[in-house]
Formats: sequence, structure tokens, C-alpha cells
Amino acid sequence: MTEKDLPALSIADLQSLLRRREVSAREAIGVLRERIEAVDGEIGAYLSLDIDAARLRAAGAIPFGKTNLDEFAMGSSTENSAVKLTRNPWDLSRVPGGSSGGSAAAVAADAAFGALGSDTGGSIRQPAALSGVVGFKPTYGRVSRFGLVAFASSLDQIGPLTKTVRDSALIMNAIAGHDPQDSTSLNEQVPDYIAKLGNDLSGVRLGVPKEYMIEGIDPQVKGAIDAAVEQMNSLGAEIVDVSLPHTDYAVAVYYILATAEASANLARFDGVRYGYRAENPRDMLDLYGRTREQGFGPEVKRRIILGTYVLSSGYYDAYYLRAQKVRELIRQDFAEAFEKVDALISPTSPVPAFKLGERTADPLQMYLADIFTIAANLAGICGISVPCGFAEVDGHRLPIGLQLLGKPLDEARILQIAHAYEQSTDWHKARPPITATK
Ligand code: GLN
Repeated sequence: MTEKDLPALSIADLQSLLRRREVSAREAIGVLRERIEAVDGEIGAYLSLDIDAARLRAAGAIPFGKTNLDEFAMGSSTENSAVKLTRNPWDLSRVPGGSSGGSAAAVAADAAFGALGSDTGGSIRQPAALSGVVGFKPTYGRVSRFGLVAFASSLDQIGPLTKTVRDSALIMNAIAGHDPQDSTSLNEQVPDYIAKLGNDLSGVRLGVPKEYMIEGIDPQVKGAIDAAVEQMNSLGAEIVDVSLPHTDYAVAVYYILATAEASANLARFDGVRYGYRAENPRDMLDLYGRTREQGFGPEVKRRIILGTYVLSSGYYDAYYLRAQKVRELIRQDFAEAFEKVDALISPTSPVPAFKLGERTADPLQMYLADIFTIAANLAGICGISVPCGFAEVDGHRLPIGLQLLGKPLDEARILQIAHAYEQSTDWHKARPPITATK
């Protein structure tokens, strides 16, 4: 192995080189910086190269930089970023997914060994799928959100984006667990996620929700998922048909609850204590008004307006309260399915990466990008996206992601199943063209 191969290593492989002292942390960081300089001009994954992350540093990691995302994590393509565009390393004319698109693109382009993202409705899993990396959303409350800017507090969860499932397990070992600084973090034992990894799926029951295999899924995506289901079956898993009858309501419920919570969370950005402040205010109302007018982008404003509307008197019962009730039905759907199966399989996204600009004019099209990921957040369960193939589009290979969803706190099992599948394929080893040219 030469120095130039270093950035492509998984965290686990890098760790063994570091332990055997065949490479130093300084060398690894140096090579990674060179790699970022070589590719990030075109991709635009990074915002800055300097950051601190509580628990990761304690576990020996070197936090490296901040990556791009949609403003306040609202979006599915990173095009709502207040700062810049990020491009998909597999095809620079396409989005990396979002909102954690910078994290996904950086890992895909070997410009980071691993990254964190936040997932409120799919923002770890969907960009992982579109960029061809692993993205893991832990159970609600499994990982502390101390330091995370709140979007929708009953849905937000932090998790890893990595090149392999093993690397996600490694990061989970470092970040999972109770944190007295986040009262919503669960006070539950954290297992050793690495110790549970294996290659065998015998005895595992996997459910295919019929509502997730709908018309409108890109045929190449459907083909890849069908093949993955067969592959899991050949590894010993039993495949069971299941139903999640309230699936159709998930996107609507999400856009009521998430916007309601966002409108409350973002009320603090009034120019007094947080963030941007408008200049030379005439009085307090002028300060509030102009700060919010100038400081928020169009998608964030749309959500604040929608959220304020669904919480307003006269509409609260019809929208917010009703959505809460349907959320409970969606949670029950999953609870019933998990009585029959250990995990659920579906596509992560109905389509591969779309073109930059293709969906920006139509917010609803953008919202539908998360049709398969949103329900997991409403139910508070855990889920992962793993690479499971490629679609050939306009002469480009575009990654496809397979989603596995698991019971609350059953992260170890989801990682185990995903790992067994991944190890029986070569999908995770493929690198985007940008890595070959630099
Ligand atoms: N795309 C969804 C939204 O725009 C989910 C975002 C997220 O998970 N942060 O709200």
C-alpha cells in the first residue's frame, strides 16, 4: 500500500495500521488533507477544516472539519445550503442527497474516513444511498444531541456515515449512550456493536413491507432491491411479506409535525442571542422582523410559516393533533410488524441521485425523496442504508441504497444483518470516478 491509497481505507483498516505503527495519525491526516485539496474544489463537501466533537475525541478520533448540509437540515439534496452547492462524486451534475450531503459526499470521495450527520426524516440514510456509502440512523434517544442545532426535537437523531458497516458500528461504540447534557438521551446499556457482527443470517426473519414496493420506484432500484432480498435469503434469512398500512400518511404527518416543531425551535433566532442579527434596528420588532427576513432561506421560511399555521388556534386540532394521532398509528404498524420479523427491507430512496436543480422548483417533489425514510423517524426506530448496486444513467454509474429498519434499541441486530449482507457483496468496494482521476 502506498500513501496515496490511505484515504480510501475504512476506519477499521486505518486503525489496524495505526496500531501496528505502520502509519502515524499525523501522516493519515496529512494525506487526507491533500486528498481534500485535490477533490473538494469540485465536490464542495467541506465548509471548514476545524471542529470539535465531544465523545469522538475521547474515543481517540481526530475531528476534522464541518461538512455542508441543507440550512437547518431542511432538504433532501443539500441545495438548500446557505453556503454552497455540494456535488455527487459519482456524477458531478447530480445532488449528493441531503440534508447531510456534505458528509456523504466527503466519505464517498475518500475525503473523510467517516462522518456524522443528523436524521430527522432521512437525512443520514438518503444521502448515504445517493452517494454510495453506509448511513446509520440510531433509535431516537440512543445518541446524545448535545450541541446539535434542533430542527424537530421529537425526530432528530445523530448517526454515522461511513464506507463500511463495521465502521458505523465502531463510531456507534464511541457515540451511543446516555448523556446528562441531553435529557432525551436514553439511559440504557450500550452493547459492543463490533462484537455482534457476523456473516450468517440463519434464523433471521426479514419483512418486505408491501407498501414500500410501490409503482414509481425506478426499475433499476427495484431490480437491485429484489436481488438484495434474494441474496439475504441465500445467506439464510427467511423472507416474510408484511404490511405497514398507514405508510401513505407518513409524509403528510411528517410535514405537519416537523414544521410545527421547527417553527417553535427556530423562534429563538430573533437576532437577540442566536445567530444572525440585522443591522441598525429601529426598535425590537424591526430587529426581529428584519433578522428573520434576511437570516433565513426560502425553504426555512416556508417551514416556519407552515409550522406556525398548523399550530395556530383553530387549526391546531385539525392538523397538529390529528397528525399526532396518525403518528401513533404509524408507530403501531411497526410494532406489529416487528412481532413477526427482526428487520424490514426496502429501498432507501425510490430513485438514484437526481440532477442539481431538477427538484428545486417543486418542494413537494423534494419532500417525496424521503418517502421510505420518514416513517422510521415518526416511529423512533433505527435504520441503516447500505450500498446494494448501481443504476446506469446517462453513462454514469449511480449508487443504490438498501434500507434495513429495526426495533427500538435493536441497533446491534441491524448492524449485524447489514454487515452480513455487505460482506457477501462488492458494492461497498466500488469507488466513484473522481477517486480515480486524482
Ligand atoms: N428531507 C427531509 C426534510 O427536508 C428530512 C430532513 C432531515 O432528516 N434532516 O425535512
